[in-house]
Amino acid sequence: MRDEFARKLFAGPCDFFWGSSRIDNLPPQSRREVAFVGRSNVGKSSLINALTGRKTLARVSQTPGRTREINFFNLGGKLILVDLPGYGYAKASKTLAAEWQTLIFSYLSGRATLARALLLVDARRGLMDSDLAVMELFDKAAVSYELVFTKSDELAPARQDALLAEAAAEARTHTAALAEMAMTSSRTGSGIAALQGQLAAIAL
Ligand code: GDP
Repeated sequence: MRDEFARKLFAGPCDFFWGSSRIDNLPPQSRREVAFVGRSNVGKSSLINALTGRKTLARVSQTPGRTREINFFNLGGKLILVDLPGYGYAKASKTLAAEWQTLIFSYLSGRATLARALLLVDARRGLMDSDLAVMELFDKAAVSYELVFTKSDELAPARQDALLAEAAAEARTHTAALAEMAMTSSRTGSGIAALQGQLAAIAL
Protein backbone atom coordinates (compact mmCIF):
# COMPACT_ATOMS: atom_id res chain seq x y z
CA MET A 1 0.00 0.00 0.00
CA ARG A 2 1.23 3.42 -0.93
CA ASP A 3 0.43 4.99 2.48
CA GLU A 4 2.31 2.25 4.26
CA PHE A 5 5.27 2.65 1.91
CA ALA A 6 5.33 6.39 2.60
CA ARG A 7 5.10 5.92 6.34
CA LYS A 8 7.92 3.39 6.39
CA LEU A 9 10.08 5.41 4.03
CA PHE A 10 9.92 8.52 6.20
CA ALA A 11 10.20 6.59 9.47
CA GLY A 12 13.40 4.94 8.24
CA PRO A 13 16.93 6.27 8.05
CA CYS A 14 17.72 9.68 6.60
CA ASP A 15 21.33 10.73 6.58
CA PHE A 16 23.22 13.82 5.54
CA PHE A 17 25.89 12.68 3.08
CA TRP A 18 27.08 15.65 1.02
CA GLY A 19 27.32 19.43 1.13
CA SER A 20 28.17 21.51 -1.94
CA SER A 21 29.04 25.16 -1.96
CA ARG A 22 30.31 25.00 -5.51
CA ILE A 23 28.49 23.66 -8.52
CA ASP A 24 31.51 21.60 -9.61
CA ASN A 25 31.31 19.65 -6.38
CA LEU A 26 27.93 17.91 -6.50
CA PRO A 27 27.53 14.25 -5.52
CA PRO A 28 27.24 11.70 -8.32
CA GLN A 29 23.68 11.36 -9.59
CA SER A 30 21.97 8.24 -8.28
CA ARG A 31 18.44 8.12 -6.86
CA ARG A 32 15.77 10.64 -7.71
CA GLU A 33 16.04 13.96 -5.93
CA VAL A 34 13.48 16.29 -4.43
CA ALA A 35 14.79 19.79 -3.74
CA PHE A 36 13.47 22.09 -1.00
CA VAL A 37 13.75 25.81 -1.56
CA GLY A 38 12.24 28.94 -0.06
CA ARG A 39 12.84 32.32 1.52
CA SER A 40 15.01 32.35 4.60
CA ASN A 41 12.88 31.67 7.66
CA VAL A 42 10.06 30.12 5.62
CA GLY A 43 10.24 27.02 7.83
CA LYS A 44 12.30 24.80 5.52
CA SER A 45 14.38 23.14 8.24
CA SER A 46 11.28 22.57 10.33
CA LEU A 47 9.48 20.99 7.37
CA ILE A 48 12.34 18.63 6.52
CA ASN A 49 12.55 17.64 10.17
CA ALA A 50 8.77 17.13 10.39
CA LEU A 51 8.72 14.99 7.25
CA THR A 52 11.54 12.78 8.46
CA GLY A 53 10.37 12.74 12.08
CA ARG A 54 13.58 14.20 13.38
CA LYS A 55 14.32 17.16 15.56
CA THR A 56 17.65 18.26 14.25
CA LEU A 57 18.31 16.70 10.84
CA ALA A 58 18.20 19.88 8.78
CA ARG A 59 19.98 21.85 11.47
CA VAL A 60 23.11 19.83 10.77
CA SER A 61 23.42 21.98 7.71
CA GLN A 62 22.80 25.20 9.57
CA THR A 63 26.05 25.66 11.39
CA PRO A 64 27.49 29.05 10.42
CA GLY A 65 29.38 29.03 7.17
CA ARG A 66 27.41 26.14 5.77
CA THR A 67 24.16 27.96 5.21
CA ARG A 68 24.96 28.71 1.57
CA GLU A 69 25.53 25.07 0.78
CA ILE A 70 23.34 22.62 -1.05
CA ASN A 71 22.88 19.77 1.39
CA PHE A 72 22.01 16.22 0.37
CA PHE A 73 20.20 13.70 2.56
CA ASN A 74 19.74 10.05 1.68
CA LEU A 75 16.26 8.82 2.58
CA GLY A 76 16.49 5.07 3.01
CA GLY A 77 18.44 4.60 -0.21
CA LYS A 78 15.23 5.40 -2.10
CA LEU A 79 15.07 9.15 -2.46
CA ILE A 80 17.49 12.05 -2.04
CA LEU A 81 16.24 15.14 -0.20
CA VAL A 82 18.11 18.25 -1.28
CA ASP A 83 18.14 21.29 1.00
CA LEU A 84 18.87 24.38 -1.10
CA PRO A 85 20.05 27.62 0.53
CA GLY A 86 17.37 30.15 1.38
CA TYR A 87 16.90 33.42 -0.49
CA GLY A 88 15.50 36.88 0.13
CA TYR A 89 17.55 38.08 3.05
CA ALA A 90 16.35 41.29 4.68
CA LYS A 91 15.82 44.19 2.30
CA ALA A 92 17.00 42.53 -0.90
CA SER A 93 13.70 40.70 -1.15
CA LYS A 94 12.65 41.86 -4.57
CA THR A 95 15.55 40.55 -6.55
CA LEU A 96 17.53 37.40 -5.96
CA ALA A 97 21.20 37.61 -5.15
CA ALA A 98 23.25 36.92 -8.29
CA GLU A 99 25.42 34.38 -6.52
CA TRP A 100 22.38 32.47 -5.29
CA GLN A 101 20.77 32.48 -8.73
CA THR A 102 23.92 31.20 -10.42
CA LEU A 103 24.36 28.32 -7.97
CA ILE A 104 20.70 27.33 -8.02
CA PHE A 105 20.22 27.65 -11.77
CA SER A 106 23.35 25.56 -12.44
CA TYR A 107 22.06 22.86 -10.11
CA LEU A 108 18.51 22.94 -11.49
CA SER A 109 19.40 22.87 -15.13
CA GLY A 110 22.15 20.26 -14.92
CA ARG A 111 20.57 17.64 -12.71
CA ALA A 112 18.85 14.86 -14.62
CA THR A 113 17.93 13.05 -11.38
CA LEU A 114 16.03 16.05 -9.99
CA ALA A 115 12.43 14.86 -10.09
CA ARG A 116 10.74 17.80 -8.41
CA ALA A 117 11.40 21.00 -6.52
CA LEU A 118 9.25 22.07 -3.61
CA LEU A 119 8.91 25.83 -3.42
CA LEU A 120 8.07 26.64 0.18
CA VAL A 121 5.91 29.69 0.83
CA ASP A 122 4.92 31.11 4.21
CA ALA A 123 1.12 30.83 4.30
CA ARG A 124 0.84 34.09 6.25
CA ARG A 125 2.65 36.02 3.53
CA GLY A 126 1.57 34.26 0.35
CA LEU A 127 3.61 34.54 -2.85
CA MET A 128 6.08 37.39 -2.64
CA ASP A 129 8.05 39.01 -5.47
CA SER A 130 11.11 36.89 -4.73
CA ASP A 131 8.99 33.70 -4.85
CA LEU A 132 7.64 34.74 -8.24
CA ALA A 133 11.22 35.33 -9.41
CA VAL A 134 12.13 31.80 -8.30
CA MET A 135 9.11 30.41 -10.15
CA GLU A 136 10.44 32.06 -13.29
CA LEU A 137 13.86 30.55 -12.66
CA PHE A 138 12.25 27.09 -12.41
CA ASP A 139 10.28 27.70 -15.60
CA LYS A 140 13.49 28.66 -17.38
CA ALA A 141 15.31 25.57 -16.07
CA ALA A 142 12.25 23.43 -16.95
CA VAL A 143 12.17 21.83 -13.49
CA SER A 144 8.74 20.72 -12.27
CA TYR A 145 7.89 22.36 -9.01
CA GLU A 146 5.16 22.27 -6.44
CA LEU A 147 4.09 25.08 -4.14
CA VAL A 148 4.18 23.97 -0.51
CA PHE A 149 2.71 26.37 2.02
CA THR A 150 4.22 26.36 5.49
CA LYS A 151 2.92 27.54 8.89
CA SER A 152 -0.71 26.84 7.97
CA ASP A 153 -1.51 26.83 11.70
CA GLU A 154 -1.26 30.63 11.51
CA LEU A 155 -4.07 30.88 8.97
CA ALA A 156 -7.81 30.20 9.35
CA PRO A 157 -9.13 27.42 7.07
CA ALA A 158 -11.15 29.83 4.91
CA ARG A 159 -8.04 31.90 4.28
CA GLN A 160 -6.08 28.76 3.47
CA ASP A 161 -8.64 27.93 0.78
CA ALA A 162 -8.42 31.45 -0.65
CA LEU A 163 -4.63 31.25 -0.70
CA LEU A 164 -4.69 27.89 -2.51
CA ALA A 165 -7.11 29.26 -5.11
CA GLU A 166 -4.96 32.33 -5.65
CA ALA A 167 -1.80 30.23 -5.92
CA ALA A 168 -3.45 27.84 -8.36
CA ALA A 169 -4.33 30.77 -10.61
CA GLU A 170 -0.73 31.97 -10.49
CA ALA A 171 0.65 28.45 -11.07
CA ARG A 172 -1.41 28.13 -14.24
CA THR A 173 0.58 30.97 -15.76
CA HIS A 174 3.90 29.16 -15.15
CA THR A 175 5.04 26.47 -17.55
CA ALA A 176 6.83 24.24 -15.02
CA ALA A 177 4.49 24.66 -12.02
CA LEU A 178 2.55 21.55 -11.04
CA ALA A 179 -1.14 21.72 -10.23
CA GLU A 180 -0.40 19.69 -7.10
CA MET A 181 0.12 21.83 -3.97
CA ALA A 182 0.46 21.24 -0.27
CA MET A 183 -0.69 23.15 2.83
CA THR A 184 1.46 22.17 5.80
CA SER A 185 2.24 22.96 9.39
CA SER A 186 5.36 21.51 10.95
CA ARG A 187 4.03 22.70 14.28
CA THR A 188 0.74 20.77 14.24
CA GLY A 189 1.70 18.10 11.70
CA SER A 190 -1.18 19.09 9.44
CA GLY A 191 -0.54 18.16 5.80
CA ILE A 192 2.70 16.33 6.58
CA ALA A 193 1.43 12.81 5.87
CA ALA A 194 -0.12 13.99 2.60
CA LEU A 195 3.18 15.51 1.49
CA GLN A 196 5.03 12.36 2.53
CA GLY A 197 2.64 10.43 0.28
CA GLN A 198 3.35 12.74 -2.67
CA LEU A 199 7.11 12.39 -2.22
CA ALA A 200 6.97 8.63 -1.70
CA ALA A 201 5.23 8.34 -5.08
CA ILE A 202 8.35 9.88 -6.63
CA ALA A 203 10.55 7.25 -4.95
CA LEU A 204 8.46 4.35 -6.23
P1 GDP B 1 14.25 28.05 7.65
O1 GDP B 1 15.12 29.24 7.86
O2 GDP B 1 13.46 28.15 6.41
O3 GDP B 1 14.96 26.74 7.77
O4 GDP B 1 13.14 28.10 8.81
P2 GDP B 1 13.05 27.36 10.22
O5 GDP B 1 12.58 25.96 10.07
O6 GDP B 1 14.33 27.56 10.98
O7 GDP B 1 11.86 28.18 10.89
C1 GDP B 1 11.85 29.60 10.93
C2 GDP B 1 10.89 30.09 12.00
O8 GDP B 1 9.56 29.71 11.66
C3 GDP B 1 11.16 29.49 13.37
O9 GDP B 1 10.95 30.49 14.32
C4 GDP B 1 10.13 28.39 13.51
O10 GDP B 1 9.77 28.15 14.83
C5 GDP B 1 8.97 28.94 12.71
N1 GDP B 1 8.16 27.86 12.14
C6 GDP B 1 8.60 26.82 11.40
N2 GDP B 1 7.59 26.01 11.05
C7 GDP B 1 6.47 26.52 11.59
C8 GDP B 1 5.09 26.14 11.59
O11 GDP B 1 4.66 25.10 11.03
N3 GDP B 1 4.22 26.95 12.25
C9 GDP B 1 4.62 28.09 12.87
N4 GDP B 1 3.69 28.81 13.47
N5 GDP B 1 5.91 28.48 12.90
C10 GDP B 1 6.82 27.72 12.28
